[in-house]
Amino acid sequence: MQTTSTGPALFNFDNSYAHELDGFYRLWQPEASSKPQLIRLNRELAEELLADAEQLAGPDGISVLAGNLLPAGAEPLAQAYAGHQFGGFSPRLGDGRALLLGEVIDRHGKRRDIAFKGSGRTPFSRSGDGKCALGPALREYLIGEAMAALGIPTTRALAVVATGDQVRRERSLPGAVLTRIAASHVRVGTFEFFATHHGPERVKQLADYVIRRHDPQLAGHAQPYLALLEAVAERQAELIARWLGVGFIHGVMNTDNMTISGETIDYGPCAFMEAYDPATVFSSIDHHGRYAYGQQASIAQWNLARLAETLLPLIDDDSERAIALATAVLEAFPERHAHYWLKVMRGKLGLDHSENMTVDRRLATDFLELLRQRKIDFTNGFRALYDAANGQNAPLHQLFGDDAQFVHWKNAWQARQPQRSEQQIAAMKRANPCYIARNHQVEYALEAAVEQQDLAPFERLLAVLEQPFDARTGDADYAEPAPLAVTANYQTFCGT
Ligand code: AMP
Ligand code: MG
Repeated sequence: MQTTSTGPALFNFDNSYAHELDGFYRLWQPEASSKPQLIRLNRELAEELLADAEQLAGPDGISVLAGNLLPAGAEPLAQAYAGHQFGGFSPRLGDGRALLLGEVIDRHGKRRDIAFKGSGRTPFSRSGDGKCALGPALREYLIGEAMAALGIPTTRALAVVATGDQVRRERSLPGAVLTRIAASHVRVGTFEFFATHHGPERVKQLADYVIRRHDPQLAGHAQPYLALLEAVAERQAELIARWLGVGFIHGVMNTDNMTISGETIDYGPCAFMEAYDPATVFSSIDHHGRYAYGQQASIAQWNLARLAETLLPLIDDDSERAIALATAVLEAFPERHAHYWLKVMRGKLGLDHSENMTVDRRLATDFLELLRQRKIDFTNGFRALYDAANGQNAPLHQLFGDDAQFVHWKNAWQARQPQRSEQQIAAMKRANPCYIARNHQVEYALEAAVEQQDLAPFERLLAVLEQPFDARTGDADYAEPAPLAVTANYQTFCGT
C-alpha cells in the first residue's frame, strides 16, 4: 500500500504510525525547495538518533532536510487531528504544514518521530500555504533546545534548512524547513478528530497504539483507557509544573498543541517571563489571557477534559459510570499538579523533603509575591537564592536591598533549612538556571539571521542556552532582563 522511498540511507526507519494506524493520516510528499541551505544541524541529536551527522550535513543530507530527496525507508504522511483553539472546536486541523517522515529507535532504545515543519501544502492545509518562515523555525529551534537543556520534556530540533524560496506573510520572508524530533506527535486533538468523525472503534485503535508506544505497562490493565487518561494527566501535571519553574509561557495551549507523550510541543508564541507576574501574556492573539503564565495548569486540566470525553465510551458502557470515573481523574488534577509544583519549588528554594508541606508552600508563594510586588526578574530572583545558599549574598542584596519584608522572609527561609550538603547545593543550581531565552535576545538573534543573514548572534545565544546553569562572566549580558518598558510592549505571534 505504501510507497517506501529508496533514497540515501540516513535513518534506520521503523514506522509504526504508518503501519499500525492506516486511516489516521494521508500519505503525502514534501514540496521541493529551490535553493536549500543548511542553517543549523543538531549534531548531538543526530548521533542520538544513530544518524551520521557528517552525512546529514553533506549534499544528500541537505537535500533530504529540504524535502528534495526522500531518505530510504521514509513513508511521509500528514496526520489528521482536530483541536479546541481558544476554547472553540475546529473539527479538521491536521498537519497543514508538517509531515511525519517516519520513526527511528534512538540510541537509548526510544522510538522517536522525525517530522518536517514547513514542507509545503498537504490535504490538511485549508487556506494555508504549508510553509514556515525562517524566523519562526529558528525560534522553535532556539527555545526548544533551551527547554531541553533545562531538562524539560520537549520535542527537539534536528535541523533548519533555508529553502531559498520566499513565503508571503505580512511581507515576503525567507522560507525554511524545520526537522523536528518527538516522542510522538499524537495530541489530544488526534483523539478528538477520531471521536468526532469516526467513533469509539477508531478511538480505541488510537488509544491501543498510544498505550503500546507510551504506556506499555498499561497493556492488560483492568481499566486501560482510564489508566491512560491518568497517565497523560500525570505527565501534564508535571510538565506544567516544570514550565512554571522556569517562567515558561507556552502561549497557545490549544488541544492540538498538547501531546499525549508529555513533551512540550509547538514553539509559536511562547516566551519566558521576566519580572514575575502570573498574569503575564505575550501572545498577540491571546486577548483575554486564556493562556497566561498562571492559567496554564487550569488550561491543561480543561484540555484533559476534552481528552476524557473522547475516551468515555471506552471507559465504561454505562455512560454515567464512565463520566464519574473520568471526572474523578480530572478532579484529582489540581492536586497532582500542586504536588509537582511543590517539588519544583522545593528544588528552587533548596528545601529537602519534609512532611510539612504547608510551610514550604507558604515560603514559595511568599517569595513569589515579593517578586511580583517589586517587579523582580523571576529567573534572577531565584538564581540569587541559589547564590546565597552557595555563600554569595551580593546578588540577593542587589535585588532586594534591606527591604524589611524580604529580610523577614529570608530569615524564615534560612530557619527552615540552615544547612545544605554540597549535593543539595548542586541540585539547587540545576533548579535555578542563570540563562533563559530572554525575549530581547531571541528577537535580536532572529533579526540578525533573517535580515542580515548573520547567524553569529543566533549561534552565540544558542551556545549560552545550551549551558544554562553555569554563570560565565563573558555571558553576563544574557542574564540581564530587558527594560520593563520593553517587556511591557513585547508581543509574540503564532509561528506562521
Ligand atoms: P499551529 O498554530 O502551528 O499549532 O497550527 C494550527 C493548525 O494550523 C495546524 O493544523 C497547522 O497545520 C495549521 N497551519 C498553521 N500554519 C499553517 C500554514 N502556513 N499552512 C497550512 N497550515 C497551517
Ligand atoms: Mg500546532
